[in-house]
Amino acid sequence: MSNAVPFVDLSAQYRQDEKAIDDAVRRILARGDFILGEDVERFEEEFAQYCEVQHAVGVANGTDALVLALQALGIGHGQMVLTTPLTYVSTADAVSRLGARVEFVDIHPASFNMDPARLEDFFKARIKETAGGVIDRTTGLRVGAILPVHLYGQPADMDLICGLAQRYQIPVVEDCAQAHGARYKGRRVGTFGIISAFSFYPSKNLGACGDGGAIVTDDPQLAASVRSLRIQGRRGKYEHMAIGLNSRLDTLHAAVLRIKLRRLDSWNEARRQAARRYDVLLGGIKGIQVPSWILGNEPVYHLYVLRAKEREGLQQALAAKGIGTGIHYPIPVHRQPAYQHLGFSEGAFPVAEQSAREVLSLPMFPEIQDGQQRQVADAIASWAKDRPYPN
Ligand SMILES: *Cc1c(COP(=O)(O)O)cnc(C)c1O
Repeated sequence: MSNAVPFVDLSAQYRQDEKAIDDAVRRILARGDFILGEDVERFEEEFAQYCEVQHAVGVANGTDALVLALQALGIGHGQMVLTTPLTYVSTADAVSRLGARVEFVDIHPASFNMDPARLEDFFKARIKETAGGVIDRTTGLRVGAILPVHLYGQPADMDLICGLAQRYQIPVVEDCAQAHGARYKGRRVGTFGIISAFSFYPSKNLGACGDGGAIVTDDPQLAASVRSLRIQGRRGKYEHMAIGLNSRLDTLHAAVLRIKLRRLDSWNEARRQAARRYDVLLGGIKGIQVPSWILGNEPVYHLYVLRAKEREGLQQALAAKGIGTGIHYPIPVHRQPAYQHLGFSEGAFPVAEQSAREVLSLPMFPEIQDGQQRQVADAIASWAKDRPYPN
């Protein structure tokens, strides 16, 4: 369809830097330092600087970044990690992979992020404080970390989350996979936790030409630990101090990421402008709710997510007009078959469950055109007009 609006358009990013990217790829092919080469070190320095932290360590993908961040903190068997049920499943998988138990805290309906009030409820209802740390009375597990996610590029409420974490002396690990460059009260996400994880999956706000990820931290020991764990826990050349992963960032990806990093702030600004245009275009339409503005947040709109009670109908109406949409995510993590063993029934986290039924992600990428956004808005308006029941 010629007038279709794609959900994302990654080729537009390549066209902007075609020559620089092609040159970098040729340079690395000629040099042959494919794994953890010079560009990886440079990218780590540049990304740390961008994130306003001391250290960045490149790894193979965002899931590994979470696994290695948690492993560096000593998370494993006998521990519990608190996170949100509305996220990409790998947030929870990283915890489970290390033998720790994932526990969920319901989200706030406006931000779609971990609700600090529900986090406080958890502490009030379930824990006992001991010399060895905070223990969950239900499971007997120690609460090893709190893992908020800045979903859709919208920062979680870090003041309240970090306040509670500090009160109970529990480390915070941030999942920044959808929020590169976002700010909370002026500070970059990734700087609130003791260690934070990023993904460079191609469609993320900063994307490689394949899989990639990184951790960032101000703690030199945690950085050194991940640096070792990403290469089988190696120290020196032949000694292996811990059971790690093969999770290295390829030089080709690092080279491409270095080029794209220079544009990240302007891309994020373009996303914010596009979000504002959607807000205006969609403002008065019945049957949908546009994303909330949250005071103190500078979001980066990895996704622009509506709520619609009749989501399936809306999605079909848009698809019929060649407009790409997505659902992030239709099944909350606690209701996934892989997490059945935890025994959460329907209704365990009602806000996340209702959100999973209502969310719809509209086309969003830095290069989206005003005309494309109008097409989307017109299609939504005509769907709203044709609906049999006014709301
Ligand atoms: C993409 C993503 C991840 C995982 O990143 P990969 O690079 O795909 O492994 C983790 N958490 C969230 C919230 C994500 O969006």
